[in-house]
Amino acid sequence: MSRQSETSVIYPPKTSSGTFDLWAQVYDSQSNPLLLLEERHATSLLPSLSGCEILDIGCGTGRWLSKLELLGPASLAGMDCSSAMLKYAQEKIQATTQLYQSDCSILPSDDVSKTFVLASFVLSYIEDLQAFAQECARVIRPGGWLLISDMHPITAAERGWKRSFHVDSVKIDIAVQPWSLHEIISTFGQHGFDVQILVEPPFDTPERPIFELAGKLADFEDLTGIPAIYLLKLQKRMSHVVVPATHIVHKLQLAGSRLASGPATWMDGIVGIEGEYIASIGEDIDSTVPVLDLSGYLILPGLINAHDHLEFGLFPALGRSADAASYQNSSEWAREIHHVHAATIQHHQRIPKAARLWWGAIRNLLCGVTTVCHHNPPHPDFELPNFPIHIVSRFGWSHSLTFDPKLSEKFHDTPSEFPFVVHAAEGIDPESYNEIFQLDNMHLLDKRTVLVHGLALTPETISLINQRNTALIICPLSNLFLFAKTLSRDLLVSIKQIALGSDSPITAAGDLLEEIRYIHSAIGLDANSIYKMVTSNSTEILRLEHGAGRITESGVADLIAVRGQHDTPASALSQLTFDQVELVLLSGKVQMASQSIYELLPLHLRLDMQLLDVAGHQRWIKAPLHTLFEAAESVLGKGNLLVNGRQVNYHGAI
Ligand SMILES: [Zn+2]
Repeated sequence: MSRQSETSVIYPPKTSSGTFDLWAQVYDSQSNPLLLLEERHATSLLPSLSGCEILDIGCGTGRWLSKLELLGPASLAGMDCSSAMLKYAQEKIQATTQLYQSDCSILPSDDVSKTFVLASFVLSYIEDLQAFAQECARVIRPGGWLLISDMHPITAAERGWKRSFHVDSVKIDIAVQPWSLHEIISTFGQHGFDVQILVEPPFDTPERPIFELAGKLADFEDLTGIPAIYLLKLQKRMSHVVVPATHIVHKLQLAGSRLASGPATWMDGIVGIEGEYIASIGEDIDSTVPVLDLSGYLILPGLINAHDHLEFGLFPALGRSADAASYQNSSEWAREIHHVHAATIQHHQRIPKAARLWWGAIRNLLCGVTTVCHHNPPHPDFELPNFPIHIVSRFGWSHSLTFDPKLSEKFHDTPSEFPFVVHAAEGIDPESYNEIFQLDNMHLLDKRTVLVHGLALTPETISLINQRNTALIICPLSNLFLFAKTLSRDLLVSIKQIALGSDSPITAAGDLLEEIRYIHSAIGLDANSIYKMVTSNSTEILRLEHGAGRITESGVADLIAVRGQHDTPASALSQLTFDQVELVLLSGKVQMASQSIYELLPLHLRLDMQLLDVAGHQRWIKAPLHTLFEAAESVLGKGNLLVNGRQVNYHGAI
């Protein structure tokens, strides 16, 4: 990579074979941190390749071919447009590996002949993405994989990176096509590929010496935490499974269960789902539409977790031991853990961020949460059709007064119809108490402001936030862990707009249901108020649309089915535990099912589900679990994954 400002010769990709011939002379001798970073992460994303047919598109001087040979494939072929590159490759590979000179418009393979295709740092040279995706779809078998890696398009654009190399002190840049991740995912999606995982790693310690040697250590520091490349693992859909065409609206009926119509009332009826929405709640079954018999279950709206940081989904709690003095405020905690627990943090951050976000989402899905307000920047994976939960996207945010000098700027840059979420009064000292007045003096308390935590609130400051129509999200177990204190029942009931969040496992080991049970049994808040805090209050505070948090005709079909007999939906919820949540529908699709419900599902609804064991409870989940386990266990070790404090294990796919 290079910065745009340097003087250089730029070659368009059209002249590529000549350019790549030049590059071949020096390719293996010039250290490239992007390639090292890619190799470190790609290795854990490779499927089992023993006995498989593999094609390496743009194999260059054979960097990957020699590694792939070691995995025992049935056949291995490399192709490149540059004869000079292939000449170098020839010297590295075994006699059984085949090489082809070709450009990417025609892949040198028969139809459906490859199980795994690699396109390492190739895509930005492709001029016709549609044609390339079509050609990949032609040669890859149903169920086979395509692994794409390249410079991260956002970082490359922001920093003016180009692909470049030096020959005889002349720097040569190659022009590239800046395909966005959205364009790539959607184009390959049209040609029958589903995303299994998207990883966007930044440079880390192993790449540091390369920067150091090049005298560019400042660049390395500057790039801390910024995605340098992406790796996208796609799987071609199975042709023997009938995938409904997108223009055919998926329909399903839920029968035999009681439906929550509010915190205190049930209704009976058949729920008719069409596409993403509840089309009807009626008495009659439509004999032309598949029926899921949920006799013995209760149906509640999918829960809304108003506060989480998903990327910490697999983290352990980080703080002081229970017998040590508690913290005074959250900044004291944050500063201390980056010192005391630096090694643990660094270790967990070796798991690619995308995988950590997926685990954070699964952590919520397992306890019946269908929507999360993720208090951090959005991630492209949130837009993927198989991401396990909805992530609130229409809101502005800042971390806190202490950690964000641009808080005011961000508030004013947020569209006026969006809520604005910020941590406040998270502590027990005067500084935390004063934050409410500071925010008010900055004119940042108004009807779209959503404060998180508010542990230092008093009757006086509650009166102020009520007057400003400002809302509060509480995360009691996190407060209890850090400060050995939570807001009292009397204070909670005096707050006009209030919702509940779980925060992340860094400070609160349990799930949203544990927060619910805690505020019910330990704080003594009534079940009806709690029900509203994770449904209608959250919908209102976070300004969610499409009827989220309610079971209603024409509302979104985000629903959960739970076991039990209860007087009211609120009393069912106030005692609910994760093992009783047996079905989650997300926008009408089955996203999670217990073994008992899985066996009742029409066959086409079981597509793409994989089996997870959660502390002895079986859950079928629509997510690329195999890849997610590989990504996390390669760092934490096999059998070491804890989600909500419970051990999880991968049990396979259909
Ligand atoms: Zn937060």
